[in-house]
Amino acid sequence: MQRILDEAVEYARNFLHQGKPASYIPELAKADPSLLGAAIVETNGSTYFSGDFEKSFTIQSISKPIALILSLKDNSENFVFSRVGMEPTGDAFNSIIKLETEESSKPLNPMINAGAIAIDSFIKGKTPDEKFNRLLKFFRQLSHNPDLTYDHDVYRSEDETGFRNRALANFIEDAGILLGDVEEVLELYFKQCSIKVCCKDIAIIAAVLASNGLSPFTNNRICERHYTRLVKTFMVTCGMYDASGEFAVKVGLPAKSGVAGGIMATVPDRMGIGVYSPNLDVKGNSIAGMKVLEYLSTRLDLSIF
Ligand code: GLU
Repeated sequence: MQRILDEAVEYARNFLHQGKPASYIPELAKADPSLLGAAIVETNGSTYFSGDFEKSFTIQSISKPIALILSLKDNSENFVFSRVGMEPTGDAFNSIIKLETEESSKPLNPMINAGAIAIDSFIKGKTPDEKFNRLLKFFRQLSHNPDLTYDHDVYRSEDETGFRNRALANFIEDAGILLGDVEEVLELYFKQCSIKVCCKDIAIIAAVLASNGLSPFTNNRICERHYTRLVKTFMVTCGMYDASGEFAVKVGLPAKSGVAGGIMATVPDRMGIGVYSPNLDVKGNSIAGMKVLEYLSTRLDLSIF
């Protein structure tokens, strides 16, 4: 397995010159585009690492399936999905168009920004700090990393330039979907997106999803089986932005991508995979990261389809 992972990373190095880091969050544009890392955590606890696997980056949208699980724990499934839908959009992650044109103004799914902001507004806690601390605690449990924290500079950068996310949040507030104060919900969302992880952390989270909620190291249950099934389904249909269809054909795995360049992929009953490389394609997915996953999927016959 180690040899195959190293081969995948070497193959993907050929694509490092393509694309560029996200720049709409100014702090993300500072990323070193030569970085490339990958980690595999098998459901039996075996781990394999390659390249810059310990380099940290902000989790960004990879946080969305995890926040969804916490929101589902805090509310009934009926409540959550009466306010956020289950359908792929075919639009960009931060698009506003469907909110206005769809009859219900309900965000189409929890993986796009409008849906994820709504999902965050359902997370319970007396104060904004309590809500974020509950969320962070859950991320720490899933990643088996008690030291996870958020990146203040990226958080500030997102907050200062988050005009579109503010527009989305205000729109869903106006439509009666968002709960609580718009600015407090955005603070939670931006902090969640700014949580610092490395490939190893997201591979461990993906391994928990792969084993339907069990820890790959202790076999203890961390999360309900039903919720892991739900989020893996969203990852297949909406996890790779508006490239989810092509990714399903080429790689065939539930995966979630983030604009800092990370991708978390899960191979049911077998392993979690985390990859990182900051240069993105036009849809917002890490180019070299996807190449690592394509190589692994072909070589190890990982596609679920
Ligand atoms: N914090 C980012 C935003 O809301 C997350 C986007 C992403 O990773 O897709 O714009």
